Amino acid sequence: MCSHAKGYRRGVHTYLDHAATTPARPEAREALERALDAANASATHVDGQVARRLVEEARETVADALNCSPHDVVFTSGGTEADNLAIKGIVWAAARGGHPPHVVTSSVEHAAVLETLAWLERRGEAQVTRVAPRADGRVDAGDVVAAVHENTVLVSVMAANNEVGAVNDVAAIVAALNDDVVVHTDAVQAFATLDVDVQAWGVDAVALSGHKFGAPQGVGVAVLRRTVPVEALIHGGGQERQVRSGTYAVGLISAFAAAVHATVAQRAHLRARLAVMSARLAQGLGDIDGVHLTGPTDPARRLASHVHVTIDDVDPAGLALALDSAGLAASSGAACGSGAAKSSHVLEALGAAGTPLRLSLGWSTTDADVDRALDVLTRAIGDVRAGTAVDLAALAR
Ligand code: PLP
Repeated sequence: MCSHAKGYRRGVHTYLDHAATTPARPEAREALERALDAANASATHVDGQVARRLVEEARETVADALNCSPHDVVFTSGGTEADNLAIKGIVWAAARGGHPPHVVTSSVEHAAVLETLAWLERRGEAQVTRVAPRADGRVDAGDVVAAVHENTVLVSVMAANNEVGAVNDVAAIVAALNDDVVVHTDAVQAFATLDVDVQAWGVDAVALSGHKFGAPQGVGVAVLRRTVPVEALIHGGGQERQVRSGTYAVGLISAFAAAVHATVAQRAHLRARLAVMSARLAQGLGDIDGVHLTGPTDPARRLASHVHVTIDDVDPAGLALALDSAGLAASSGAACGSGAAKSSHVLEALGAAGTPLRLSLGWSTTDADVDRALDVLTRAIGDVRAGTAVDLAALAR
C-alpha cells in the first residue's frame, strides 16, 4: 500500500502511477519541515543569510548529482517551467532578426516541450522540425542529425519518454552534432532511475522535476550552462542569475535537494529492484491474451520504472472504472492538465492500437503491489471483455 494514498483513501489501495507523481521521500519531508520557517533568502540579515545558505547547499547537492557547476543550476517551479525556460530562453536569445531560429525536437516529447515549441512557431519566433521515433519509441541520433541545418540553434530530445519509458542515448545525439548547436534534454522521467550526467552527456540544458523522484510537487531545476545565452521569462528581483526572479522557495528547494541526495544514494539498488518488478509485471500482463507490451523490449533501453501495454477488445472507460473501484491507481493515458484522459500523441507516433495502460513503479513500490496489480488486472480485463457486470466488490479485495 502506498504511503501517500493513506491520507485520503480507505481500504486496499495499490499505487502504480509514480510517473505521474511519486510520494515524497521521508528525507524530503524532513528537509521541508526544517526549512518552513526560513527567512527570505535574499535578505541581508543573519536569518536571511542562514536561509541563503540552505539554498546554496541545495544547489551544490544538485550540481554534484548532475556533474555540473552549481552556477549552472536554476531552481524553478517544476519540469514544465524548466522546459519553458530552456526552450524560450535559448530561442529568444538566439533570435537575430531575419529567419526565426530553427529547433529540432522529437514528436514524442512531453507537452511542456511540444506546446512551448508550437506556441513559438505560431508566433513566427521559431521554425520547428519534429523527428519521429523509431518503432520502439526511441529517437535515433542519425535522424536528429539529418534534421539539423545551418539555421538550427537548439536540439531538444528527452532522456526518457514519460509514457512508454523508452530511453534515448542523449550522449550519442550530442556526439553526432556540431558544437554550435545547443542541446536541451528533458530528464524529468529519467532521473529517478538513471544517472543524469551533464558532462558525460555533453548537454547544455536539462529539465528536472522534484515530484517524480520524491520531492514535493512545485519544484524543479533547469540546468543552463552559463556559456549559453538565455533570456529571462520571469522578471523581478533578479534571483537565479537574473533568469528566474522570485523569492527563493527555501523549503521546496531544500526538499528537492534532499530527494536528489536520497535518489542518487539509492538509485542503483532501486533500478535493480524495479527492473525485477517491472519485468514480472510485463511478463504477467503479456500472458493475458491480447495484451501487448509497448516500447523497447530490451530492458537496457527502457526505464525500469515503466511498463506500458495496449490491450485489445477492452472498453477504456470500463477498464478505468474497474481499476478505480479496485483501488488500483494506474494511467490509462498521459494525465493532462484538465485531468481528462486524451488520446496519446506518443502512441499515435508508434502506430499502437488498443486500450493503453501505463503502470509505473517508484521508490515505495513493493512486491505486494505487483502481485495485487496482476491479480486485479487479470480479473478486470476478463470482466470488462466478457461484458459481464464487473464484480466491484471482488475487485476491491
Ligand atoms: N516532462 C516530462 C517528461 C514529464 O513527464 C513531465 C510531467 O509529467 C513534465 C515534463 C512536467 O513536469 P512538472 O509536472 O514538474 O511540471
